[in-house]
Amino acid sequence: MTTQAHGVGAASRPAFDDHHPPAAALIDKCVHCGFCLPTCPTYALWGEEMDSPRGRLYLMKSGLEGRVGMTEGFVGHFDSCLGCMACVTACPSGVQYAPLIEDTRAQIERRFPRSAGERLFRKAIFMLVPYPGRMRLALVPAVLYTRIQPLLARSGLLDRLPHRLRALAKLAPPVSIRSLTAQTARRTPAVGERRLTVGLLTGCVQRLVFSHVNDATVRVLAAEGCEVLAPAGQGCCGALAVHAGRTEEARAFARRTIAAFESAGVERVAVNAAGCGSSMKEYDRLLADDPQWAERARAFVARVRDVTELLVELGPPRAARHRMDLRVAYHDACHLAHAQGIRAQPRELLRQIPGIELVPFEEGELCCGSAGIYNLVEPEPARQLGRRKLRNISDARPDVIATGNPGCTLQLLSVAAEEGNPVRVVHPIELIDEAIRGPGRTAG
Ligand code: SF4
Ligand code: SF4
Repeated sequence: MTTQAHGVGAASRPAFDDHHPPAAALIDKCVHCGFCLPTCPTYALWGEEMDSPRGRLYLMKSGLEGRVGMTEGFVGHFDSCLGCMACVTACPSGVQYAPLIEDTRAQIERRFPRSAGERLFRKAIFMLVPYPGRMRLALVPAVLYTRIQPLLARSGLLDRLPHRLRALAKLAPPVSIRSLTAQTARRTPAVGERRLTVGLLTGCVQRLVFSHVNDATVRVLAAEGCEVLAPAGQGCCGALAVHAGRTEEARAFARRTIAAFESAGVERVAVNAAGCGSSMKEYDRLLADDPQWAERARAFVARVRDVTELLVELGPPRAARHRMDLRVAYHDACHLAHAQGIRAQPRELLRQIPGIELVPFEEGELCCGSAGIYNLVEPEPARQLGRRKLRNISDARPDVIATGNPGCTLQLLSVAAEEGNPVRVVHPIELIDEAIRGPGRTAG
């Protein structure tokens, strides 16, 4: 490893101030073995030490010791991190990279003067995406765009847009008036004897773009004996804010989410978006300094489950599954596999469906490039990773791709549309729902 952090140099602005800098004790657990390097997507793309987990830890340490400052180069190495946590899975020394990158990003967000254009772009994202009411309005033109998007893509017009607008246009989700106006029932009774009362996080992107995934989740949970409540007061869970270092904003979202599910009186909180679930399981850390909320956050975290995790916990399926002869490529969303350690459950549930064959593919551990708002703020590496992922998956010749995160679904659909690849991408819960409802009953 190099002893100098190339291109980051000392600066008048210290890398960190005293308000929650990354913890030196966590950084020091790194023994520089390099096992994390091959699984890091930015290292896979560029082969640069400072764009690897080990290099980023070294930069943090250099920053703490005053050897580098908060320069553009320093910030760039952290902006390019996808927060995918593949390094956490790979690390034999148990380095907890998640709190380190979150604390580093919070310092950058609070103290680094980004350009006016960059600030405006980021502000626009955070004024829109976490607010379903605003997003709904903003997505109305996307109903028409959804219809003409393939035509625009073929005409080459999209490629003439500035790179960020182009990324936005290509990632614009497929929406319909139906998906934008869909509402999840406040209460859905269990089929047969009730086993559990479960609250469903309806999400921001999920409820507007993938409302059919929420519908499928409710039907499957109900069929498996859960009463499902969708509390009215819930909003954004704060995942995007926490990943971008907007800590205060994330805390406000977390408090609101906790309060909404507390008043609903649910025994479990089911989440069908990996990024949301991983953030919600970290509310205890996010609110640890808040005496009024720390205990409530701990109690809440104990109830949060990814929907696949919850279904496996319930035990053997109660509802019969019809046969589905399908080759399924299950893509591990980073925030499910690396951040929550959930790999076996979705596969187990899919294998319970007669006829389904899970097909393996190369580089399964590597991020698809979605990563929260990464494919909006860093569109080029995101696109390269998306193409690499789709190529690896397509080589396995699946009939359908299943993945547990709306960001991954959008990313794969966007790359597939660009390449004229007519692949179908679904949430695993949609396949389970189809298997329970029987032939021809596809969701959405
Ligand atoms: S979170 Fe992902 S992109 Fe960031 S250092 Fe770890 S492996 Fe690399
Ligand atoms: S695998 Fe862990 S200990 Fe080894 S270099 Fe990476 S972060 Fe450090």
